Amino acid sequence: MTDDRLPTVLVVDDEPINIEILAEILGELYEIVFATSGTEALEMASSLHPDLILLDVVMPDMDGYEVCARLQELPRVADIPLIFVTSQDDYLAELRGLELGAVDYISKPISPPVVKVRVRNQIELKIARENMARLADTDGLTGLYNRRYFDQMLSGECSRLSRSQGCLSLILLDVDFFKQFNDTYGHQAGDDCLRGIGDVVQATLKRACDRGARYGGEEFACILPETDHIGAVRVAEELRATIAALMIPHATSPVAPYVTVSLGVVTDYGVTECLPQHLVALADKHLYAAKAAGRNLVCAAENGEEGRVKGERKPYRIY
Ligand code: GH3
Ligand code: MG
Ligand code: MG
Repeated sequence: MTDDRLPTVLVVDDEPINIEILAEILGELYEIVFATSGTEALEMASSLHPDLILLDVVMPDMDGYEVCARLQELPRVADIPLIFVTSQDDYLAELRGLELGAVDYISKPISPPVVKVRVRNQIELKIARENMARLADTDGLTGLYNRRYFDQMLSGECSRLSRSQGCLSLILLDVDFFKQFNDTYGHQAGDDCLRGIGDVVQATLKRACDRGARYGGEEFACILPETDHIGAVRVAEELRATIAALMIPHATSPVAPYVTVSLGVVTDYGVTECLPQHLVALADKHLYAAKAAGRNLVCAAENGEEGRVKGERKPYRIY
């Protein structure tokens, strides 16, 4: 969930009066949505992805246990915490609910302060889990995705391409003469420079499925699903030009008096099995060709085809 909206609680009960009571207790702190049957609950959980589900056990069409079991099978729903709310306050009913994956159990007649605290606890835990998951995927310096996430995403996209038709592009970007930059301006300024480049990566990738990551020290990577070669070269060239236009002073760079980057681009059309290590190796090869050709350049080639370099120099062949 994002920070600027109230957490959403889905209340499932076949008796509207019970929904009203819970909405009265929780409505100030949470956005309350409700369902009056198991079928409706499954649909709403799938479409709304609430932050918590309060589920009645005894319902006519499908009881709460069955709803709970079916929720666990739905993508992106299984992780939503669920609390059973029921008058069946014997311990076997409680045990069954917890064994099915419920995180807690509230007995009717409900006590408003207890409901508030139990709901708050589970919402706080969910937010903490989401923050942890986000941190685990994020690079601390730039706020971009980190290498761990990049590896997972590239592997997933390669598998997807191998199963379906389409294309997948990868851009690797490396800062030119960054060691000299640090030596000249200090490590702190180096970090600021990397943050600035990270911001450009973030701003340049416009499609929802594009992902920009910090690949290593002063190397960045962009995964562009469903972007063909011409499109990917265009993005790489925009990255190169935008970073150069930042005009971050680099007095000791042999290339330009400001910070520049070199980029390698590769596109896979899924003709043969798409392997992440193969894509990275190829993009890396083009990146180093761009370095060898003078830096501040994009060097690109479709999988196995003739390479081209864009930038301020004349076209360049890789092979
Ligand atoms: P080239 O143009 O061939 O890429 O030369 P280069 O100097 O950029 O490449 P090299 O691999 O020799 O040096 C990379 C430098 O990047 C060395 C390292 O200190 C610096 N670096 C890596 N990570 C960070 C970081 O997080 N912060 C800062 N300030 N510097 C970093
Ligand atoms: Mg490097
Ligand atoms: Mg470098």
